[in-house]
Amino acid sequence: MTPLERRIREEIRRDGPISVERYTALCLFDPDYGYYTTRQPFGVEGDFTTSPEISQMFGEMLAAWWVSARQTMNLPDLALVELGPGRGTLMQDMLRTISKLDNGALPDAHLVEASPSLTLVQKEKLKGDDARISWHASPENLPACPLGIVANELFDAIPTAQFVKTEQGWIERTVRIGLADQLEFGIGASRLNERNLPFGHAAQPPGQIYEQAPERLKILKVLAHQIKRHKGFALVIDYGHADSGFGNTLQAVKRQKYAGAFDSPGEADLTSHVDFASLASIARAEGLCVQETMYQGDFLKGCGIEARAQMLKSGAAASTADTIDSALHRLTDASQMGSLFKVLCIKSAPVDLPPLKIPH
Ligand code: SAH
Repeated sequence: MTPLERRIREEIRRDGPISVERYTALCLFDPDYGYYTTRQPFGVEGDFTTSPEISQMFGEMLAAWWVSARQTMNLPDLALVELGPGRGTLMQDMLRTISKLDNGALPDAHLVEASPSLTLVQKEKLKGDDARISWHASPENLPACPLGIVANELFDAIPTAQFVKTEQGWIERTVRIGLADQLEFGIGASRLNERNLPFGHAAQPPGQIYEQAPERLKILKVLAHQIKRHKGFALVIDYGHADSGFGNTLQAVKRQKYAGAFDSPGEADLTSHVDFASLASIARAEGLCVQETMYQGDFLKGCGIEARAQMLKSGAAASTADTIDSALHRLTDASQMGSLFKVLCIKSAPVDLPPLKIPH
């Protein structure tokens, strides 16, 4: 039993079953034993690999897009902001590319990171960069200036609540201690108002799961509010669905393999798919413009990743060319990250930021 499981069991014995949202929050962010507070999960040897860790081309494409969006929106003082920067790789690749495109000039950079240990990793990684970089524990502390925000695989790591369809309505799913003294899912007391459910809920079978992540919406609302006030945009990239729907997407991953949600609390990553429609609707309610959610593969190709791969391959050794080809395939192919991963862009002005378009 992991030390965190002992702590979770104590809490359940003391207070009763906990929500799935609370369970996930403890697994990821318990100050002593949480996955993100104690570990460095990314990279080829880590538990999972993210796009910036797969290839520098990912950050290069985002940087090229960011520079062109800044120009289209006419925001010369745009600050570069990243939420959930992991090992700092994306920020490093973006700063290098922006500086190349801007003849050596660098924007002010702001990193929003909840994990103190990952903040140290990012500080170490970005030590040699000349940019003025500040760290913040919450997006509420971002400066009052135009913001060009990127967030890759942040929202999937923000805990979600789950609700189960029963004869009494949609009831919150909990984590409890079962008869054989194991952690297991149960059903609690809190009921979801049906007005908050997507279309088609009445036709769902008993036992169906609906996921709702108030913390994600709260973060998006803070970002949207600041963008509305000070201008700018946010580019959110993650795995998930463009339309709200039903189903259980909670998944644990340990050393690149799927694991059970209760196998090793605190030692596995625990995430769920992002409901992009719910994020978009919060942005719209705040008065922002929302571009049509795109597949990551289409977005990266629209930014020119294939031409960039060709350029990097020319003159490179055969083994390097193979690595570039396989990274390109992984980032863009529909069988890999190309279509499961989506790109959402919200912004303060109704302009197209190609390859993203305003829905007509
Ligand atoms: N963007 C990185 C890492 C993704 S993992 C990459 O693509 O490689 C998720 C990151 O979000 C981690 O750095 C984690 O510590 C951070 N994070 C999770 N919840 C957060 C929150 N509420 N506020 C800020 N950062 C958070």
